[in-house]
Amino acid sequence: MTPDVRDRANGPARVGSRNGSGGAVPESAWDRALHLIRQSDEIALACHVTPDGDALGSMLAVAFVLRSMGKRVVASFGDRHFAVPRLLRFLPGQEMLVPPEDYPAAPELMITFDTSTFERLGLLSDNTARAREVIVLDHHPSNAAFGTLALIDAKAAATAMLAEQLIYRLGGRLDRDIATCLYAGLVTDTGSFRYPSTTPAVHQMAARLVAMGLRTDEIARELWDRSPFGALKVLAAALDRVTLEGGLVWTYITRVDRAAYGLPYAELEGIIDIVRRTDEAEVAVVLKEDDQGAWQVSTRSKGTVDVGAACAALGGGGHHNAAGYTSHDSVEDTMAALRRELGKV
Ligand code: AMP
Ligand code: MN
Ligand code: MN
Repeated sequence: MTPDVRDRANGPARVGSRNGSGGAVPESAWDRALHLIRQSDEIALACHVTPDGDALGSMLAVAFVLRSMGKRVVASFGDRHFAVPRLLRFLPGQEMLVPPEDYPAAPELMITFDTSTFERLGLLSDNTARAREVIVLDHHPSNAAFGTLALIDAKAAATAMLAEQLIYRLGGRLDRDIATCLYAGLVTDTGSFRYPSTTPAVHQMAARLVAMGLRTDEIARELWDRSPFGALKVLAAALDRVTLEGGLVWTYITRVDRAAYGLPYAELEGIIDIVRRTDEAEVAVVLKEDDQGAWQVSTRSKGTVDVGAACAALGGGGHHNAAGYTSHDSVEDTMAALRRELGKV
């Protein structure tokens, strides 16, 4: 394995300039990460709870490469009901996942993916607190840099972009499985290359990945173009009670709505993308009741309102245009608090 990324046949010519960040991660931080990884025999990976394509895809892509370097690799996320969301079950490498109860109690070296706060590690936060070294690979502007080494670029469109850099720097090469995982992250976090985060560097990375022989049509169908019948009925309930108040459009889905069709919480992810189409609204909000009875609040902005700041003020976080948080209040109280915060940003 060589640390020199410049001559990789399938790697970028100059990794540091490829994510549009102007090299937001200092070279010294990359060097330290490589050193920590090289000297560890066992490496524990974690991504945020209820993982999306970027969290799970980035983690599995790096897991493949570490495994090919001869490392013992465990990967997990800290959900109480540990299960890969249906729409991500097409991702390769899931045999490397272990449930949180089988995760090392005090890993020598951990790497976290797409995780902006300690809390987003869920059941794995105690393991993380006991880990000797924690490398935080992320692109959230609100990242609290909770680990011992930050590889954070808030300008990167996806954690997958940083994962790709890490892979090349480790001397790894893309193959079809790794490319599938990275592509899932890139396509998820850019909203299929529609969000303003979609820079030339994003398309250049996509080209490197697709060149590995990806069936992007099949990946798109897995991610967005299929769902169980109950998802349509629950969407109907959400749209039936959607409300437009000034520039705010919002709705909610209860766990009772889902229970009628046995619909898992993870199937609600796409509803915000329909609600946010509303021409008359600048901000879209969907309150989703999880299996424990808490409200997971998804917010989207078209640009003028910083929903990331509003959600951060309410204990969550995210990006300028897409953010979220958890509320334990009623729907009415949750919306009242959110309206107050949106009025401030
Ligand atoms: P979602 O609406 O679940 O797709 O989340 C949009 C973005 O908001 C995610 O990419 C996360 O960055 C952030 N986010 C969502 N929920 C939370 C939370 N409970 N705490 C912190 N950040 C969150
Ligand atoms: Mn994520
Ligand atoms: Mn992400």
